[in-house]
Amino acid sequence: KATSESHEFGTEVPRLMNLIINSVYKNKEVFLRELISNASDALDKLRHLALQDPTVMADEPNFEIKISSDPGNRLLVIRDTGIGMTKQQLLENLGTIAKSGTADYLKHLEKQKATAAADGESAVNDLIGQFGVGFYSAFLVADKVSFTSKHPSEDKQYVWTSTGGGAYTIHEDLPENDIGRGSMITLHFKDSETEYLDQSRLEGLVQKHSSFINFPIYLWTKSSETIEIPADEVEEAEAKEEAEDKKEDEDDDAEVEDDDDEPKNGDDQPKTQTKVIEKESWQQVNTQKPIWLRDPKTVDESEYDAFYQSFNKDDKNPLTYTHFKGEGKVDFRGLIFVPAQQPSDYIMSFQSVVNNVKLFVKRVFITEELGQFLPKYLNFVRVLVDADDLPLNVSRETLQNTRELVTIKKSLVRKTLEMLDQLARKDSFKYKAFLDQFGANLRMGITEDTPNRQKIAKLLRFPSSNGDDLVSFTDYIGRMKKGQKQIYYVAAPTLEKAQSSPYVETLLARGYEVLYMLGQLDEYTMQTLTSFDDKPLRNVAQSGIEFGDEDEETKETLESLKTRFTPLTDFLQKHLSEHLESAVVSNRLTKSPCAIAASRMGWSGTMERFMKAQNR
Ligand code: ADP
Ligand code: MG
Repeated sequence: KATSESHEFGTEVPRLMNLIINSVYKNKEVFLRELISNASDALDKLRHLALQDPTVMADEPNFEIKISSDPGNRLLVIRDTGIGMTKQQLLENLGTIAKSGTADYLKHLEKQKATAAADGESAVNDLIGQFGVGFYSAFLVADKVSFTSKHPSEDKQYVWTSTGGGAYTIHEDLPENDIGRGSMITLHFKDSETEYLDQSRLEGLVQKHSSFINFPIYLWTKSSETIEIPADEVEEAEAKEEAEDKKEDEDDDAEVEDDDDEPKNGDDQPKTQTKVIEKESWQQVNTQKPIWLRDPKTVDESEYDAFYQSFNKDDKNPLTYTHFKGEGKVDFRGLIFVPAQQPSDYIMSFQSVVNNVKLFVKRVFITEELGQFLPKYLNFVRVLVDADDLPLNVSRETLQNTRELVTIKKSLVRKTLEMLDQLARKDSFKYKAFLDQFGANLRMGITEDTPNRQKIAKLLRFPSSNGDDLVSFTDYIGRMKKGQKQIYYVAAPTLEKAQSSPYVETLLARGYEVLYMLGQLDEYTMQTLTSFDDKPLRNVAQSGIEFGDEDEETKETLESLKTRFTPLTDFLQKHLSEHLESAVVSNRLTKSPCAIAASRMGWSGTMERFMKAQNR
C-alpha cells in the first residue's frame, strides 16, 4: 500500500486559506473559473511542450477539460489533459505561494480586514479579483480537496490531499487509477455549498466565466432526448410485436383481435415514430469561436464585457475597448481594453514590470510574459494579440525585438491613443472617468513617449477660466484671441488658488483664457511638452511674460513707470537680496499691488513644493 507523506504548508498558505475560508466573500462561484483557468494554463503549457517534443502526446491525444458532478456524494471532479505536475511540482505549487509580494499583500489585507469589516470584504474581493487566489479558491466551497496529477516526465502519479488546515498529504497513486496525463481535481463540497453541484448551475457558470477558454470544456450531462425511429425499424418492431401478440393469443387462447381495425397511415405508406430516451453524455459547453477572430460587427458590447471579465479576472466591465485587424508587415488581431479602475497602488508598487499583453499565434496561446512590452504609461490597458505568423523558436528577448513584434507594438500604441480619442469624442462622461483614473498615465506618456507626445497632449483636459467644462488644447486654440501666440496656464494646488492667482488677473482682464493645471505632474509635463500645435505653452507665474497685443503706447508707459519707480525697486532689491533675484515694475497685475514671480527659467512655487515632496 502506498505510503502517505504529511507536509506543512508554506507560511503564507494557511494565512491565505484563513482569509478565504472565513471570508464574507459572497462570490464563491469564482472557484470554478479559477480551476478551469488553471486547467487551460496546463493545456497551454502542454501544447507548447508538444511543439518541441510530440511524444508527450502519446498516451492521450486530446486537449480537453471535463467536469462532472455527483450531488449525492457532494463531489465535483475537474479533469484536464494538460501538462500535470510532478511530485516536486505538487509540493511547490500547491504547498507554497511562489508569487512575489504575497506576504506583503497578505499583511495589508489582514490589517484592512481587522480595521473595517466592509473594507475587509472588498479587500478579499480585490484579492480574488486581481491577485487571483487561484487554486486555493477551491476551499471557498469544499472542505476537502484532492489533486491527482501525472506529468509526462514521470511514470508515477501522485495525489495531493488537504482539508484546508495547516497541512496536506502527498501519496503515490495506485497503478489502476492511472489517468494517463494531466490532472484530476476532486472537491468534496461543504454542506452549505451544494448548489454548485447542480448541472444547470455548473453549465451557467462555465458560460458566464469560462466560455472563452480556448479548449473544449465538457460537462457530464444527463438529458432526455427525443429520437426518431425510422419507418423500417418501426415496421420491424411492429411485426415483432404482432408476432408476439399472436403467440400470446395462441398461448392464452384469448379473444381474437382484429388487427385491421387499428388506425394506420395506410399499409404502403412508410411511417416514423418518436421516442423519448434518458441519456448521459459529455456535452461541450463552450462552443463559440474566439471572440477576437470574429468580425467586430457581429460581436455586441455585452460579449466584449463578458470576455473582458474572464480575460482580466475583473468583476467590472471595461471602460472602453477596441477590436481591430492589423494588416501589412504582419497580420494580426488585436483587442485592447481599458479597465474601469486603476489597479490599486499597492499592486502597482510591487509589480515593477507589468505583463499586460497576452500573445497568441494562430489561436494558440504563446505567452503573457513579454516583459515590459508596451511603454510603461500604458500599463493600465489589457491587450490580446493573435498574430498570423511569428518566429517562435527564439528567446523572449529576441522575440520582443523581432520586426514583427516591434510593428505590433507600434500599432497597439497607436490604436490605444485612437481609442481614447474616440472615447473623448463620443462619451464625455466616460472620458471624464477615464481621466480621473488614468490622467496621470497620460502625463507620464508625454515624458516617456516622445514620438507620440502631441497625440497624447491632445488627450489632456484641464479646467480653465473659460467656464466649468474641462478644456483641451485644441478647444483653447480654437478660442485664442487675435494676435495671441501662446497658450497660457497657471499651476496651483487647487482651483480656488488658480482662480485667485495674481498672475492670472491681467490675463483675464485682457480677455485671455488661462488653463488651470491642478495636478502634481502638470507643470513638469508642460515643461516637457513645451508647445502644442506649434503654440508655446506659457506658465504665467514665470516672469517676462509678453502679450501679443501690447502697443507702442503701453510699452512707453511701462518704460516711464520703470524709471519713476527705480528708487523703490533698488530699495527692495538691496534690502531683500537674500530672498529676491530682482524687483521689477510690471504690467502683469491689475488688482494686486505686487506679486512674487518665479524667474523665467526657474521653478514656480507649485513646482518647488512638488520637488520638495519628491525628495522627502
Ligand atoms: P496561478 O494559476 O496564478 O499560478 P494557482 O494558485 O491557480 O496560481 O495555481 C498554482 C500553480 O499550481 C499553477 O501556477 C500551476 O503551476 C499549478 N497548477 C494548478 N492547477 C494545475 C493544473 N490543473 N495542472 C497543472 N498545474 C496546475
Ligand atoms: Mg490560476
